[in-house]
Amino acid sequence: MHADPRRQRQEALVGTLAAAALDGLLVTSRANIRYLTGFSGSAALVAVTRGDVLLVTDFRYDEQARAEAGAVARVEVESTSVWDRFFKELATLGPLAAVGYEAHALTVQDAERFTQAGQAWRWMATKDLVERLRAAKGPGEVAAIRGAADLAGAALRDTLPRVRVGMTELEIAGVLEGALRRLGSEGHPFSTIVASGPRAALPHARSSRRVVAKGEWLLLDFGAQVDGYCADITRTLVVGARATERQRALYELVAEAQRRARECVRAGMTGRDADALARDVIAARGFGDAFGHSLGHGLGLEVHEAPRLSKTNADPLPVGAVVTIEPGVYLAGQGGVRIEDDVHLSATGPVLLSDGRTELLELV
Ligand code: ZN
Ligand code: ZN
Repeated sequence: MHADPRRQRQEALVGTLAAAALDGLLVTSRANIRYLTGFSGSAALVAVTRGDVLLVTDFRYDEQARAEAGAVARVEVESTSVWDRFFKELATLGPLAAVGYEAHALTVQDAERFTQAGQAWRWMATKDLVERLRAAKGPGEVAAIRGAADLAGAALRDTLPRVRVGMTELEIAGVLEGALRRLGSEGHPFSTIVASGPRAALPHARSSRRVVAKGEWLLLDFGAQVDGYCADITRTLVVGARATERQRALYELVAEAQRRARECVRAGMTGRDADALARDVIAARGFGDAFGHSLGHGLGLEVHEAPRLSKTNADPLPVGAVVTIEPGVYLAGQGGVRIEDDVHLSATGPVLLSDGRTELLELV
């Protein structure tokens, strides 16, 4: 066992390559490159074989690639054609017959290079070889996601006292994003969603110029990033007035479903059974059709990754996964409520990584 988690990940990948009858894998997904080597730049080609890890990047990343990945990969820097250089270096890694590539992370244009180059390798499409490894998080990864979730919670607490009736959704998004940056978020892992009034019924609304009015729903779905790892939180509140009875009833229903799911979700349970934890509560009250998306998704170097907590996932959730729990109920023309927290599926049960402050907030 090596102390460096990247070495362990590389070894685990080599194990899966053997099972897939591959001698090596070309890794082009940026998140997978970062996971295996630590390199966080925007352009590199990586090959993992039984004996070597090769990383080819361009001149811009010379220093960065050596600093981030030099300890666990052979770094080659090319100022003309990174692909030509990659093929040249690959040929030096000993006899390789079948080499996999990541079908979901390679353009058709780049795949054509395989035939143009007239090489000896047999290129095989692969799917999610590294993603499957990434699903179970190590302690350092969980700590980074917890750090991002703490930061997201603090940014929201900073933001809420500054939210007023009469502001636009975009203005509120700006205040929240400013707080996230000020507190140290490396980036916004996705476009911040601020959706008000009837727009809160759009599960993936984009923040707009709409002005928030008194007594309306305000849904905030936002992320933070620490050491490359993402948190993803949603809170829904009422602005400028106390909640109506109808609003409160809808909110309590979603909150109850969310609490049940985040407390009862377990590694080993199928994605479908996890999804049902919240869905059954909502459906029992007659709102099943208004919860039109899945319960949650894996969280890590990417904001949406394996595993899915959905009706269509019959696989068990891996021990160590970090997932979102985000049921919602959306009523067209009226608005909607979604509540999202981040949970680590540890061997001994679910551990909440975000603040779990899901009581209904009324900004009056
Ligand atoms: Zn979200
Ligand atoms: Zn999410």
